[in-house]
Amino acid sequence: MLHIGYHESSSDGYMAMGNEAVSVGADTFAFFTRNPRGGAAKPLDKADAASFCTFAREHAFAPLVAHAPYTMNPCAADPGLRDFARNMMIDDLNRLSYTPGNLYNFHPGSHVKQGADVGIALTADMLAAVFRAVSDISTTVLIETMAGKGSEIGRTFEEVRAIIDRAEQSFGKPLDGRLGVCLDTCHVWDGGYDIVNDLDGVITQFDKVIGLERLKAVHLNDSMNVLGAHKDRHQKIGQGEIGLEALVRVINHAALKDKPFILETPNERAGYISEIALLKSRVQ
Ligand SMILES: [Zn+2]
Ligand SMILES: [Zn+2]
Repeated sequence: MLHIGYHESSSDGYMAMGNEAVSVGADTFAFFTRNPRGGAAKPLDKADAASFCTFAREHAFAPLVAHAPYTMNPCAADPGLRDFARNMMIDDLNRLSYTPGNLYNFHPGSHVKQGADVGIALTADMLAAVFRAVSDISTTVLIETMAGKGSEIGRTFEEVRAIIDRAEQSFGKPLDGRLGVCLDTCHVWDGGYDIVNDLDGVITQFDKVIGLERLKAVHLNDSMNVLGAHKDRHQKIGQGEIGLEALVRVINHAALKDKPFILETPNERAGYISEIALLKSRVQ
């Protein structure tokens, strides 16, 4: 069974997102934990979160994939911006403890002239600090694989692995259940991983470098750009350079098919409904 959903607006709360998911044939969804371009979060409606937990059980939802705001740059050169990122993540995880057992993905950041090694170290140390500050361990934090636009870190599987290793070293013990990875099909393609002609090879590479047990969710997007373009421009399913058949192989791949798939394609509601129906019709 395909677990799929799209990135919904969180403005009306969890129950609104849950009802919307069911009405479009989804059993998961993504949402921003706060304004993606600002910092402030609305106060959490605990009754709404509790109702949603029951609703999600009744409707056999797959884990949700909450998305950290884009303004979060854990490896910024400015210590004030790093504090801002850390405090936002701590606050987000504390809020997510009211809907336990879900996933939370974030962009590992842009090192902006400090070099990738410094970026990796800063992001990893922030993660360790966050895990020390948050007592609830039911939410798994996911490092998103990035396209390598500008000075983004997480552009290769090796960089993602380095963040995990350093985070565990800095935390002082393994972070198995707390730290995982979200694979974005547009980003890895733009990053130079040929999921069109060699999906098996890419998955094998992921397993060798990171370990498939870390893979918890997939952002399912087509790309406007060619392999290795390092651009990060999402396209509708089947209308980009990755194409429908390659994405169908992604949702059916033995190592991926049980994960929650999140559409972050440039669509309105009707577009998501047809993409979900199309992908469901291609489950093997
Ligand atoms: Zn993504
Ligand atoms: Zn993207």
